[in-house]
Amino acid sequence: MENSSNFIKSIMKEDLEAGKHDKIVTRFPPEPNGYLHIGHAKSIVINFGLADDFNGQTNLRFDDTNPLKEDQEYVDSIKEDVKWLGYDWDELRFASDYFEEMYNKAVLLIKKGKAYVDDLSADEIREYRGTLTEPGKDSPYRSRSIEENLDLFERMRKGEFKNGEKVLRAKIDMASPNINLRDPVIYRIAHATHHNTGDKWCIYPMYAFAHPLEDAIEGVTHSLCTVEFEDQRPFYDWVIAECETENTPRQIEFGRLNITNTVMSKRKLKQLVDEKFVDGWDDPRMPTISGLRRRGFTPEAIREFVKETGVSKGSGFVDSAMLDHYVREDLKLKAPRTMGILRPLKVVITNYPEDKVEMLEAENNPENEEMGTRQIPFSREIYIEQEDFMEEPPKKYFRLFPGNEVRLKHAYFIKCEDVIKDVNGQIVEIHCTYDPETKSGTGFTGRKVKGTLHWVDAKHAIPAEFRLYEPLILDEESNGEDDETKTFLDYVNPNSLQIIQGFVEPNMKDVKPQDKFQFFRHGYFNVDPKYSTAEKPVFNLIVSLKSSFKLK
Ligand code: ATP
Ligand code: MG
Repeated sequence: MENSSNFIKSIMKEDLEAGKHDKIVTRFPPEPNGYLHIGHAKSIVINFGLADDFNGQTNLRFDDTNPLKEDQEYVDSIKEDVKWLGYDWDELRFASDYFEEMYNKAVLLIKKGKAYVDDLSADEIREYRGTLTEPGKDSPYRSRSIEENLDLFERMRKGEFKNGEKVLRAKIDMASPNINLRDPVIYRIAHATHHNTGDKWCIYPMYAFAHPLEDAIEGVTHSLCTVEFEDQRPFYDWVIAECETENTPRQIEFGRLNITNTVMSKRKLKQLVDEKFVDGWDDPRMPTISGLRRRGFTPEAIREFVKETGVSKGSGFVDSAMLDHYVREDLKLKAPRTMGILRPLKVVITNYPEDKVEMLEAENNPENEEMGTRQIPFSREIYIEQEDFMEEPPKKYFRLFPGNEVRLKHAYFIKCEDVIKDVNGQIVEIHCTYDPETKSGTGFTGRKVKGTLHWVDAKHAIPAEFRLYEPLILDEESNGEDDETKTFLDYVNPNSLQIIQGFVEPNMKDVKPQDKFQFFRHGYFNVDPKYSTAEKPVFNLIVSLKSSFKLK
């Protein structure tokens, strides 16, 4: 990864210098059983970034060995998300294309006396496996002859047995201190249609057996995975050695990315979708790549964020405010600035001529002159933000209140003269006067005011919907870990989405899905691709302007 060194990069460099490989080959190996989330972005950035550093190669490989949970929809979304993040794979591979080769390797193991067909049930296998403190014991089927095993395994393939009736196990050591080496299951029966191979197979390799073979078949040199696979490494190496593969890939583990106030496992995210806590995998509150995209996060911000979290063995929690920081940085110079009223309050400027409309000039981005200027209409009635008026203000409230004068951004000073209420005492509108001398851009220095408010012209403004978000999960650090009394669903924030109706400037009539803006004094917003229409734009709050987060 550019400019950064890390322990994996050092290993790759040493391996190249020692002549172990001609080039570095990595892979990003998602299982197509859900949409990608920002944790996967870390794996993507690491795998593609490191291979790039050495002019190497990265494959996108679907680890599709479990037909029960996998689907073409997920394959398609994963490809889209990897591309959107800015990466091009060298080769697109499917683990299921290697089923025949994997089957042959399993036969090889049987012939070497290194694998056997077991009739124990899943529960019995677990029982026989022992614990961290007690060794396991041998299955009564462990001593089957090679001939019998070859025959049974072939009949498993032919579909002669039901799901769960038999499995193929590696024959290693039932007393190994590493439980993963106590004769792990390497093939199981699953009568199910596979999204790629259809009904060709009814036996499927287990992940721990399939993965090293996939790596070896593709000539992957460094197989990067997350730390929970560390205890699997001895079995990974066993498979590579005993299956006598041509290539010798090396597994290296790095720490997972965890972010505060979110859950990051496909199982949990799928549950949020299935149980309708959110509006699909791409709901803007989801930590999925498609959700972040719809919310308005940019690939640049996500990549910078992931790089900043670094590559190490540890899996600490990263503050979600850090991601917000990077999207603000990215959009600061790119997003046009504009005015939007989220909670409107009408203001009538009583001394402004009834049918006059004037066009005022406004900069599109004061920090980026190249973005030019626009004309915004101003007339007798405008909307301001409800929170920008108080009838009885506390000390240090510099916005509008009876008798006080404020500046309207790009326009004039106005002074509050009267508050109009309905029969119930609810404020209906505010009456103000304006001072023509104070027009913005004319260099008026006569007097100063402390508050500057944003506004839109009432006659010309476009109605708009704003969708404001809070974190989906209220529990900051445990990632909504399940325990005896609670599951992560008990931590779902009931107020994570707020939908409000307001107004935007008339020149926003042509906004397109995924356009991004900074609404003055509010924050960055994205035009929602699902709900926005030509009649009524819908804006997702990406991040507010203020941040409590400081980069070290
Ligand atoms: P989940 O637990 O969310 O379902 P997974 O690990 O089962 O994720 P895979 O599709 O198997 O999902 O993951 C593809 C790759 O992404 C793997 O190499 C995995 O280690 C990596 N990955 C998944 N989650 C994270 C994370 N939070 N941080 C870094 N890498 C991750
Ligand atoms: Mg998984």
